[in-house]
Amino acid sequence: MMTADVVICGAGIAGISAAYHLSLHQSSLRILLIDRGAPLSLTSDKSTEAYRNWWPGPDDAMVRLMNRSIDLMEGLARSSGNIFRMNRRGYLYVTADPARAEQLLQAAEQAARYGAGPVRRYGRSPLDPPYIPSPSDGFEGLPDGVDVFLDPAEIHRRFPYLSERTVAVLHVRRCGWLSAYGLGMLLLEQARARGVLFQAAHLIGVEVQGGRIRAVRLSVPGGEERVETGCLVNAAGPFFSEINRMLGVDLPVFCELHRKVMFRDEAKVIPRDAPLIIWMDPQQLPWSEEERETLEEMGRTDLLRMLPGGAHLRPEGGVESPYVLMLWPYETRPVEPMFPLPEDPLFPEVVLWGLTAMIPGLAIYWGRMPRPVVDGGYYVKTPENRPLIGPLPVEGAYALGALSGFGIMAAMAAGELLAAHVLGERLPEYAPAFAPDRYERLDDQACLHDWGETWQL
Ligand SMILES: Cc1cc2nc3c(=O)[nH]c(=O)nc-3n(C[C@H](O)[C@H](O)[C@H](O)COP(=O)(O)OP(=O)(O)OC[C@H]3O[C@@H](n4cnc5c(N)ncnc54)[C@H](O)[C@@H]3O)c2cc1C
Repeated sequence: MMTADVVICGAGIAGISAAYHLSLHQSSLRILLIDRGAPLSLTSDKSTEAYRNWWPGPDDAMVRLMNRSIDLMEGLARSSGNIFRMNRRGYLYVTADPARAEQLLQAAEQAARYGAGPVRRYGRSPLDPPYIPSPSDGFEGLPDGVDVFLDPAEIHRRFPYLSERTVAVLHVRRCGWLSAYGLGMLLLEQARARGVLFQAAHLIGVEVQGGRIRAVRLSVPGGEERVETGCLVNAAGPFFSEINRMLGVDLPVFCELHRKVMFRDEAKVIPRDAPLIIWMDPQQLPWSEEERETLEEMGRTDLLRMLPGGAHLRPEGGVESPYVLMLWPYETRPVEPMFPLPEDPLFPEVVLWGLTAMIPGLAIYWGRMPRPVVDGGYYVKTPENRPLIGPLPVEGAYALGALSGFGIMAAMAAGELLAAHVLGERLPEYAPAFAPDRYERLDDQACLHDWGETWQL
């Protein structure tokens, strides 16, 4: 194919979703999806695969985007016999700090106003509404919103594995996880069945004439190819800015390295039907004097400081699986993306320590953690932690990037929104919040300076 109506650069979950929605809305389009690697292999198969509609913040745009995305994922799960194993276990936000509990409650009220669902409080009163625990599998017929537990005895009864210091637990309900690879391959299969062509190719140049896209240049096995096109979608994940540079476009986007650890929880400390559980409190790890000296010698004084909240874990696999995933983004400096990822041999132990504050039973693995597997990738972010979806200043060029730590959960709605922009269809109300031209709108720019908590995990 030497001409295409649309070229999508990047077959991660974002580019694949764009191909799926474009081909669904206009099956006659000649769509070329390219990637320099295998589909989904760079970032989209390295995530925690979790989703949530709980996005407190300055406005309701993220809640609406995620609600739409989850609606679309549920539809696809129903029509495919839930081939990508979407569950609805929820997220548990946990704190031992009464002030943070208050902040979480305020955030819950805010998210409820935005459409995430109601706030229900549980003590031990007979007037409390019935709490419906999450089943291990499936997503049908369950509440949305958030169940709030503030009574220590009730917290201990419901969640006996949590630290006795816990003062508040928020069980956020329209959340869970799924197989991101399963979802992505299903979308790709359906897009290909509608005529989308996938090609292993590296985008190395873009021809722009008179302010419009004219062609792209590809490096392919055995040489170079030129493909004439009037439309290019930048879904290049960590290389989003590289493609923008080819277009002469500059957007405020940076990368953060995020790792995750998988290990065998042989002692079954984490219940197999547990939700995703997050420790919201900052902490300083209890290093011994000797360990402190060693860390100083290693140049790792970063681990001696107060580390931020946000350590989290979830069981991985079915009830028979021993695996647990653990994450703690305690180092989030902007970096240049590098592959393979730089190693950090201390990461598994540090995350385990951090999570022990929330789940004391994990202490049995201190110093003898079953061999962990570490992988991860880059969160590609804007300063306000919102995606970039929509037209770029070069005619025919579109952004589908900066999907940060929410690209799996947002993919369905993000691809749909991108397709609406490309096809000139009616846009949803939340479209302006994610359009790249938001930086040209004065109010939004003012807003950027005081964005506050972004609820990133
Ligand atoms: C540790 C970790 C945990 C995460 N947890 C979650 C989670 O629980 N829930 C969630 O929703 N999200 C999560 N995320 C975020 C999510 O994984 C990403 O937002 C998402 O995968 C981004 O998808 P993408 O398609 O934009 O990028 P990618 O998957 O990186 O795809 C981009 C593709 O573009 C290709 N490409 C780049 N440049 C070129 C070029 N010049 N020519 C050809 N091809 C090119 C690359 O090869 C790549 O395949 C997590 C991320 C990490 C790292």
